[in-house]
Amino acid sequence: MNAGRARARGTWHAFSMTGFATRQLHAGERPDPGITPRVTPIYLTAGFVMNDFEHAVDHFSTGDGYSYTRVANPTTETVEQKIADLEGGTEALLVGSGQAAVVITLLGLVGAGQRVISASQIYEGTRGLLLDNLPRLGLETDFVDDANDPAAWEALIGPDTRALFAESIPNPRNEVLDIAAVAAVAQAHGIPLIIDSTLATPYLVRPLEHGADIVIHSASKFFAGHGAVLGGVVVDNGRFDTASTLFPHLTEPTRTGGPSFAARAGGNARIAYLREVMALRFGPTLSPFNAFLIGQGIETLSLRVERQSANALGVAEWLSRQPEVHSVDYSGLAGNPYHELAQRYLPNGQGSVFSFTLTGGTDAAGAFIDALQVFTHMTHLGDVRSLILHLATTSHNQRTPEQLDRAGIQSGSIRLSIGIEDLPDLIADLDRGLAAVRALTS
Ligand SMILES: *Cc1c(COP(=O)(O)O)cnc(C)c1O
Repeated sequence: MNAGRARARGTWHAFSMTGFATRQLHAGERPDPGITPRVTPIYLTAGFVMNDFEHAVDHFSTGDGYSYTRVANPTTETVEQKIADLEGGTEALLVGSGQAAVVITLLGLVGAGQRVISASQIYEGTRGLLLDNLPRLGLETDFVDDANDPAAWEALIGPDTRALFAESIPNPRNEVLDIAAVAAVAQAHGIPLIIDSTLATPYLVRPLEHGADIVIHSASKFFAGHGAVLGGVVVDNGRFDTASTLFPHLTEPTRTGGPSFAARAGGNARIAYLREVMALRFGPTLSPFNAFLIGQGIETLSLRVERQSANALGVAEWLSRQPEVHSVDYSGLAGNPYHELAQRYLPNGQGSVFSFTLTGGTDAAGAFIDALQVFTHMTHLGDVRSLILHLATTSHNQRTPEQLDRAGIQSGSIRLSIGIEDLPDLIADLDRGLAAVRALTS
């Protein structure tokens, strides 16, 4: 330790600390204000010191600065601003998981007796939330089977509808949402369109640019990218209509007579409410440590997604030529029904999550998956590593055969999340899987 540092230590706690318990709490060093880290450090702290009495009074009246990590944290905030910028939004809010991001967004907009309209092809966790859990709070959901048919959304809109929900690239079949078509319906009724864009990432498509109001991500997936942490994020376009009568909790004065969120935050009323009420009161706070890892991940987002999409196209093309494969659902393939929409919305790549179906059903899928050595068998996606999952017996095992059929999932359907490995190694691994399938029938 150099002398300057030792001196700095000495000056931080000039008062006398004699007792062990006191010293174990208070002895130590405060960061030298002369240090400027290149990377925002992990502020792994529950809260922040009030410099003096006036500072505390000021913080509690204006909200400026930091007090408690559930309210705001510099590490988390840095990553929020990065994500808001990448999505072309005004503000972002990070929370503990993608599921938490979906929950606080819906509960922040929709109240008891009100309704959500959702695409039916969505992440199973969100689907379960809408079907099983939100109804207990009096929030019901109407589902649209053909998400790209604006008339189908329009037909379900009623006086109690408060949110439209869809995924830009729905899990697991790599379909492509016509975001602008659904956004036009949302705008005509002043109802926000929420897009879960986890599988696309802002590198491939930015839904706010196509008229969506709110974007959600599971940051556990491509943002973090390395399969180490969970996180979720909500990004707002900052265009809340302050004259709207649909959201009195945003436009009417607070319980204590203070100015409404609309009066205080204007077009950012929604995200201000999500941050200051939903995240604060319901408490799904992201650890600053996880925020740091998500921020590190985002620094290579475009490189990973570009490579993952190119690898995915290579794998999809190869699979589509194999006799044991019945079909491949990848919008990057010329014959895919979503190919044209993919060219419009996803010109930089169609993502790395898609499904394909083996002719031999569940037995073939089992032999295939168990023969692989490079792909990891797990329920996760967006990782740098390639991952594989059999749908009907795992993530989609709560669906009836009829529901699976409607979702285009068969007994031989397998989901892939392609990583950044070398393409020939991935294809060699899948070839090993097909050899195991052939061995079943020979
Ligand atoms: C994983 C996922 C979620 C949930 O995110 P978690 O971080 O796992 O809570 C939501 N939507 C989509 C599309 C996902 O893939």
